[in-house]
This record gives sequence, structure tokens and C-alpha cells, in this order.
Amino acid sequence: MSEANERFEGGCLCGAVRFVANGRPAAIYWCHCQSCRRHTGAPVAVFAAFNPESYTVTRGEITKFDSTPGQTRRGFCARCGSTLTCESLPTTDLTHFHVGAFDDPARLAPSTKQYFPEERLPWLHLG
Ligand SMILES: [Zn+2]
Ligand SMILES: [Zn+2]
Repeated sequence: MSEANERFEGGCLCGAVRFVANGRPAAIYWCHCQSCRRHTGAPVAVFAAFNPESYTVTRGEITKFDSTPGQTRRGFCARCGSTLTCESLPTTDLTHFHVGAFDDPARLAPSTKQYFPEERLPWLHLG
């Protein structure tokens, strides 16, 4: 399959929110910041970044919460609470989707890029 034809579908745990992204993500990377940790409940977040033009929310809507007003906007399902997105304000030129929200995250292997490595948990060892 060529890059242009790549398609990534995803959604929340309950199915109220579904989305589809087309083409390769602009980046796939790790984030070790404490805000991501709290939002996800997981020791580290992995994001696939897509331009707003390259994805569509096909069912329901992503509820937004500004975790750092003017800086960071986080998205989730209002029904089941699934963590879905993160956007940097004020320019929302990329929407960062949590890879776990995709149906087939095995296709979205992260690069070695690590954001906020200084906040990484000392017991977390990545292969
Ligand atoms: Zn849901
Ligand atoms: Zn983060």
C-alpha cells in the first residue's frame, strides 16, 4: 500500500467516537510529561500527529479540556472517558492522537523521539 493510500481508523472504548486519518502521520513519538501521564493513567504516552485536514471524526465528537489554558488542549470521549487527543495552542496545526486509540496501533510504531525525557519514570525501560 502506498503512503498516500494509508488509512488509520480509530475510536474510543465505547464506540461513541470514531475517526479516520489518511496518509502517514507527520510524526510518531513518545511523551514523558506528567500531564500526559495524568490524562492517560499510563506511564508514558505515544502520539501519532496528523494535520487537521488529514483526519475526520466520523461518529460523535471529541470533547476538549484545556489542561494548560492557552497552551494544551486534550481530547477524550465524554461517555467512556477514553483519552484520544492532544493539541498545542494557539496554533492547532497538528492533532496528536494517542496511538492506543487506533484500531491497529501495531502499524504506528514510534520513532525514538522522546519529549520531556527529564520527566521519564526511572523504572520505565523501553526496548
Ligand atoms: Zn467512548
Ligand atoms: Zn506530554
